[in-house]
Amino acid sequence: MNQTSTLSEIQDFKGTYPKQIWGLFFSEMWERFSFYAMRGMLTYFMVYHLFMDDKTAQLQYGATQAFVYAFTFIGGLFADKILGFRRSLFWGGLLMITGSILLAINPKDFFFLGIAFNIVGTGFFKPNISSMVGQLYKEGDPRTDAGFLLFYSGINIGAFLGGFVISIGKGTMLTSIVPENLRWNVAFGLAAFVMLISVVNFFFTKKSLANIGDSPIDNTIPKNKYKQIAVYVGTIIAIPLIIKMVSNTTYTDYFMFFIGPFSLLYLIYEMTKNTLAENKKIFAGLFFIFFSVIFWAIFEQAGGSLSLFAAGNLNNNLLGINIDPNAVNNSINALFVIILAPITGILFIYLGKKNLNPNSVIKFGLGFLLLALAFYTFYTVRFSANEAGMGSLNVLALGYLVVTFAELFLSPIGLSLMTRLSPYRLQGFMMGMWFLASAYGQYVAGIFGSEISPDKGLTNLQKMMAYTEGYKEFALYAVMAGIILLVISPLVKKLMLEVR
Ligand code: GLN
Repeated sequence: MNQTSTLSEIQDFKGTYPKQIWGLFFSEMWERFSFYAMRGMLTYFMVYHLFMDDKTAQLQYGATQAFVYAFTFIGGLFADKILGFRRSLFWGGLLMITGSILLAINPKDFFFLGIAFNIVGTGFFKPNISSMVGQLYKEGDPRTDAGFLLFYSGINIGAFLGGFVISIGKGTMLTSIVPENLRWNVAFGLAAFVMLISVVNFFFTKKSLANIGDSPIDNTIPKNKYKQIAVYVGTIIAIPLIIKMVSNTTYTDYFMFFIGPFSLLYLIYEMTKNTLAENKKIFAGLFFIFFSVIFWAIFEQAGGSLSLFAAGNLNNNLLGINIDPNAVNNSINALFVIILAPITGILFIYLGKKNLNPNSVIKFGLGFLLLALAFYTFYTVRFSANEAGMGSLNVLALGYLVVTFAELFLSPIGLSLMTRLSPYRLQGFMMGMWFLASAYGQYVAGIFGSEISPDKGLTNLQKMMAYTEGYKEFALYAVMAGIILLVISPLVKKLMLEVR
């Protein structure tokens, strides 16, 4: 790659994509591999190896995920003000590698320690690599959406592959080469190794990025150097605190009560510097952020209740192929995103040409209706159940196909909206708010999952009924949210002014 290119040379690229996007694509792909490998193993490991009951495990799973996304908000803030994107990425990557190595050494004893390192690490890595993608483009470059769609595919290739790692731990994959007593060590170790590839890849990519992602403050001034060191030290000090907060979900509650209002107050302060038109659009942005909380609270059953449902209540038969239902639960959504993202993109462009492309509020509304249909499909798994309470993996897969359409109508649109609805100086912050909404979604997902969890001592068939009943309820919530969105869409459209 050309190492001497300047920022304007990067942004004035010919064709559809800037060539630097591929470096970021692969680093994010491997990071998501590591992240989703871990995510896929958490709840299962808590129930089957740390012997927690389903309810506790899901609350704790929800807490870890809530912290992961809440820290993306904090990681974004520190990158904006002190570290810059590059340093944040290296720091985040290093923390994630450390966390996974700890888990690989002793998954039982170092469980929460390893998870805590991964939480903060992801916080420094995840939002900032997305922001770097945005900086490859000039403001208003119409090719930006295509870039983010490509990047979203990278995310999901990583997520797809990472979802299979649990099968090494469970002993349903690579059994001939991995000794039985080391299965979980190898599974977590693989997450560490892959994260190392991500960081090394970024090391080579950064040379071609001109000044994108440099620290916003002058490093040669000692005071600034100390600020950066303070961030590193602060991160390490935060680790024991996070362990406490994740392992006791009451503290997670306190944290979640604090961080949302705090971010809103800060936003209000920033809004006092804006014009009325800018603030109208921010209000519209907040509206999308609020609804995304509900969306993720239902969608994110995937890593919690659906993971236990797959482990205990689904057969191994996917269209005649014998396969671990947890691997399907973890990975099939990502596979569908990879296949459907380009198709959805083409559909939107086609509709756009005919002037029929629905605006973003309508897309959000449709996303919710599709989400409802998907969870209704999960509900119908009960009709395929035998007396042992084992149901059809094919029906779960069908539900995920519908979930994926719902996601594509909401998630990439939301990312793009955050940049389009915010004035340039608040774009990073609004992106952080978008991810903070994911944190709240994850948090509520844990509570929802725990609510629908069957009590201990029930038969497997009763468990099947309990989970599927819950999915029907979620379908109802999603329908209600979808209808509310469609009804109030004219009001939101007004707030969005010229943005569609
Ligand atoms: N699946 C996407 C990712 O991992 C979005 C997740 C989210 O925002 N909750 O990046």
